[in-house]
Amino acid sequence: MQSFDDFKISKQLQYAITDLGFEKPTPIQSEAFSIIVSGKDVVGIAQTGTGKTFAYMLPILQMLPFAKQIQPRVLVLVPTRELVVQVVEEIEKFGKYSDIKVLGVYGGTNINRQKEALALGADIVVATPGRLYDLVLCRALQLKAIKKLVIDEVDVMLDLGFRFQLTNIFELLPERRQNIMFSATMTEEIETLINDFFIGTHKIAVAVSGTPLENIAQSSYAVPNFYTKANLLVNLLQDATTFNKVLVFVSNKKSADLLFNVLNEHFNDELCVIHSNKTQNYRLRSIKQFDEGKNRILVTTDVMARGLDLDEISHVVNFDTPAFPENYMHRIGRTGRAEKEGTSLLFYTEKETKHKEAIEALMDMKIPEKDVPSEVKISKQLAPEEQPQLTEPNNPHKPSGDYVPGAGFHEKKEKNAKENQGGSYKRIIKKKYKKPKTKGDKNYNKRNKK
Ligand code: AMP
Repeated sequence: MQSFDDFKISKQLQYAITDLGFEKPTPIQSEAFSIIVSGKDVVGIAQTGTGKTFAYMLPILQMLPFAKQIQPRVLVLVPTRELVVQVVEEIEKFGKYSDIKVLGVYGGTNINRQKEALALGADIVVATPGRLYDLVLCRALQLKAIKKLVIDEVDVMLDLGFRFQLTNIFELLPERRQNIMFSATMTEEIETLINDFFIGTHKIAVAVSGTPLENIAQSSYAVPNFYTKANLLVNLLQDATTFNKVLVFVSNKKSADLLFNVLNEHFNDELCVIHSNKTQNYRLRSIKQFDEGKNRILVTTDVMARGLDLDEISHVVNFDTPAFPENYMHRIGRTGRAEKEGTSLLFYTEKETKHKEAIEALMDMKIPEKDVPSEVKISKQLAPEEQPQLTEPNNPHKPSGDYVPGAGFHEKKEKNAKENQGGSYKRIIKKKYKKPKTKGDKNYNKRNKK
């Protein structure tokens, strides 16, 4: 779709777009509009700056009929309070002529003022998950009228450890609702979340703009396992003149720490690492040292590397092969910027070959192969993730398939189970009569029967 006219949107929205000076929809806006209007569950893969906020708000505002009611009909969840403020501002610009009431709520500020604001009513609530949940528990906010749930920057949200808050919120929402999710990167955790809670999800993705692939020299190495990959990387990094500013990507924080430990033996003060378990100060210091050239090697996860404005990266090393090809495009886009030549290396194991092929299919080109130098030691040691998993196919309490929740999963589950047991009367009644007393209980039982 080339023009906003093709969307057949209301006059009020047209005026707002004219005021904003937007001439035509961005690619994600074109792709998302008709699908969101159709009412399907949607997952959009798009980074900040692609116009994704309007990509979901435009169809939602178009669909949101005017109604004088207190309870919100649209819930937008975002990971940080800065984003709450930003999204509220964007919606206000768009809803300028529409009489839409939007309210932002987030933690770290006075909850009473937010309760008062909610009591006056809102059509759209934009919230961070923790504060939203608190407001629902103390009955300052009811979610039963929610028709559309938007989760923005879901990758950041999960990386910050909000999975259980999200699950808790899902339990409180009406089952009949439209789910819309946006993320810059795809991860297995997101896939699991989609499979658990979304129905017939439609995926839309836009190409990463900015970096022309021609500026990036890509190559790949077939390597048997984690520790051999580490040996190869150590070998390559010895050449400090060529590898002068190296961004090393791994898919999760455990691998980041494991790799950091290996590299640290060889490149101690040339090395830094960032992932979401590190403190904000530690991360900021690492990024600064890397950017200023004090450390030439930065190990990072996909999610953490987002939003970093790093220039003149000599090499991007894909220490593992992303399961979602879009992530590879994001990673290699960190080099070869501003007309500079960049180099990207991809390490892949036999198991990762299918991911490499998916990347090649997306780019419509083969990544040239290089031989692992003969002096690189082939390791037999297996990283924890590579070790065979014990499966118990007949144990109904263990999830089947590949999904094995990590330690954090259990910790939080127990913590939540203790903290979030509101409604003790209902719990006691339910235990006594063993049958649902409310619609909420019924839904809960239905879901837990599976
Ligand atoms: P977002 O990706 O939602 O963070 O949006 C990035 C920026 O693009 C925001 O400042 C929007 O105001 C702007 N923007 C969104 N849609 C359009 C459009 N169709 N034309 C021009 N700018 C846009």
